[in-house]
Amino acid sequence: MTDLSSPSPPPVLPVLADQDAIGRAAGLLRDGGLVAFPTETVYGLGADATNDAAVARIFEAKGRPQFNPLISHVSGVDMAETLGDMGEAARKLVQAFWPGPLTLVLPRRADCAVSLLASAGLDTVAVRMPDHATAQALIRRTGHPLAAPSANPSGGVSPTTAQHVADGLGDRLDMILDGGPCRVGLESTVIAVDGDRVRLLRPGTITRAALEAVCGPVETAAPGAIEAPGMMASHYAPNARVRLNATSVTPGEALLALGPDVPAHQGPMANLSVTGDLVEAAANLFAMLRTLDAQTPGRGTSAVGSTWSVRRGSDRSTGSTSTPARSKSVAKLAS
Ligand code: AMP
Ligand code: MG
Repeated sequence: MTDLSSPSPPPVLPVLADQDAIGRAAGLLRDGGLVAFPTETVYGLGADATNDAAVARIFEAKGRPQFNPLISHVSGVDMAETLGDMGEAARKLVQAFWPGPLTLVLPRRADCAVSLLASAGLDTVAVRMPDHATAQALIRRTGHPLAAPSANPSGGVSPTTAQHVADGLGDRLDMILDGGPCRVGLESTVIAVDGDRVRLLRPGTITRAALEAVCGPVETAAPGAIEAPGMMASHYAPNARVRLNATSVTPGEALLALGPDVPAHQGPMANLSVTGDLVEAAANLFAMLRTLDAQTPGRGTSAVGSTWSVRRGSDRSTGSTSTPARSKSVAKLAS
């Protein structure tokens, strides 16, 4: 794993995506590496979606909040069906629009091999088959689905050339495959498909009208009602009564602190980042909630803290809990 505290390695330069380079890239991915690759939408920052550590590196490299899940890129419908439950509506949609810029959020199969981190702990999995020869060859030769958000630091502009990737993330990944400029240049349309119910989560180049011509009525998720993690009140709820970055803590509560100023507290306590490093804090969030749970047996499901949000450009999630915390709250976790 990249150690960002040691002297930066020389930035990686784009490599022409010929068969030889794709073969080397597949080897890197199988070994847990990060490879940026072209798709028809934007360049993706890819890792083996079934490898927890590799998926964690994506979040680290991008500075992406870990509760924003990743799309798994698949080589075809067969691979998608090993990951999520596809009913008739999903099959019709992928037949009409794959390969292409349509992402389906499906119920996770019990034996789904994709890392739970890529699903941000949800019981769904997002899948897409990209319409790009390099991306398809890379997935096939790796033999696994590739988790791949856009290959830019979180909150930045999505990359549509290999050079954009090099400029933004060149010192944080293992290889950049150059397949020329992206054809679409906009992220995929994201829909949730559960049985015959289809909901539009993120508009994109494939319009609702085009979807409806294939599968009938498509519900439009209201802003804030999107099933992206963090938009559900219970998504962050640990079993412990946790106070996030608070100025005071009462007995029976657990404290999840951030930074050097920590109020006196006898009970369960963890610090997301003693130095207040926001990337480190994001990386620690889920693990520390679990640690606090483990130290607080037998509690009901609840959390206390300020209304808080995490916002980095399009990587946005919000959650709301009950009592005040200091103004420098976890709201700034990812900013
Ligand atoms: P990107 O940052 O372009 O890779 O965006 C991926 C989009 O898909 C984000 O809006 C994610 O929140 C969304 N997404 C991925 N997986 C899921 C999921 N399991 N449930 C809901 N939304 C998802
Ligand atoms: Mg993005």
